[in-house]
Amino acid sequence: MIKFLDLQKINAQFATELKEASQRVIDSGWYLLGAELATFERDYAEYCGAKNVIGVANGLDALRMILKGYIELDLIKKGDEIIVPANTYIASVLAITDNDLIPVFVEPNLKTYNLDSSKIEAAITKKTKAILTVHLYGQISIDQQMLDICAKHGLKLIEDAAQSHGAQWQDKISGAIGDAAGHSFYPGKNLGGLGDAGAITTNDEELATITKALGNYGSIKKYENIYQGLNSRLDEIQAAFLSVKLKHIKKDIAARRKVANYYLQNITNPSIVLPEVVHKDGHVWHLFVIRTENRDKLQKHLHEQGIQTLIHYPIPPHKQEAYSHYNHLRLPITERIHEEVLSLPISAVMTEIEIEKVVDAVNKYNG
Ligand SMILES: *Cc1c(COP(=O)(O)O)cnc(C)c1O
Repeated sequence: MIKFLDLQKINAQFATELKEASQRVIDSGWYLLGAELATFERDYAEYCGAKNVIGVANGLDALRMILKGYIELDLIKKGDEIIVPANTYIASVLAITDNDLIPVFVEPNLKTYNLDSSKIEAAITKKTKAILTVHLYGQISIDQQMLDICAKHGLKLIEDAAQSHGAQWQDKISGAIGDAAGHSFYPGKNLGGLGDAGAITTNDEELATITKALGNYGSIKKYENIYQGLNSRLDEIQAAFLSVKLKHIKKDIAARRKVANYYLQNITNPSIVLPEVVHKDGHVWHLFVIRTENRDKLQKHLHEQGIQTLIHYPIPPHKQEAYSHYNHLRLPITERIHEEVLSLPISAVMTEIEIEKVVDAVNKYNG
């Protein structure tokens, strides 16, 4: 079976360095908010080109805390509206509703799967305060039109950069394009820890100071609490692991691009719609997502050929039981995407034979 994502094989590449890193942390006697975190934050800031990196417990917290930070800064207030792509992982929406803010779902572009900038203005009201855009599958979702809309309407631009470590647009890297960004280092992400972890990046010093305090019980000085914060910290051991993984991310991205380019050039089955690349060389291919009318049949066919695939995602947030009050919304492009998408295996540890096998099996599919 060709696995969708072989995490064991991915981390085995770095086993010696990871073991050294964990040994260093065990021996240090210091497990939270220490030198490992400071090193990772500094290196990740440099990698993204962002002034500030605040390590947090996971990607959802990063997004929640950015919005909470803006609320503390009085730039956003409860009940305000945040524009969010309708096709995203539910975490983007949870970050909004968790802060008593209102998600306003905007349809994506069917070709790129990312937020359609031409549809944003129609969704803006007096209560709109921010756009939370998602760089889905590893491709930057920001364009000049989106930046112009934010400038014109005074909106904050927040990036959900959970899937886009290192993705590029013009001369900027994911996480340093908008006002603030939430990153996830969940094990399966392109820059993945060996457990949960996340980070906020921002060039806004005030937001950086507030979010850093929010993650540590709302405290800057021990036992003095300025905000009603939470506990969301990136452990020393995950920071040490992430520093190892960060050293190899360029190679990882290059290998993913090789797989993606092979798929793009060699999948010729007319019943398959391939993903559209807008920013040449900027896509980091967290996922390689194809579309077909009878997706379940394709998935079954590939399974029979020994290929594991996944669906990102089968149910859009507005159709989830958790959001029953949004279930009535009609978002046809989003709904179609959720019915038709299938993610093929992609990673830096796939062999050429495996990559060819995937292409052969997809091309043999009788749609
Ligand atoms: C993974 C992911 C998140 C959440 O990250 P966690 O670290 O799992 O909390 C948020 N948004 C998107 C688009 C994701 O893919």
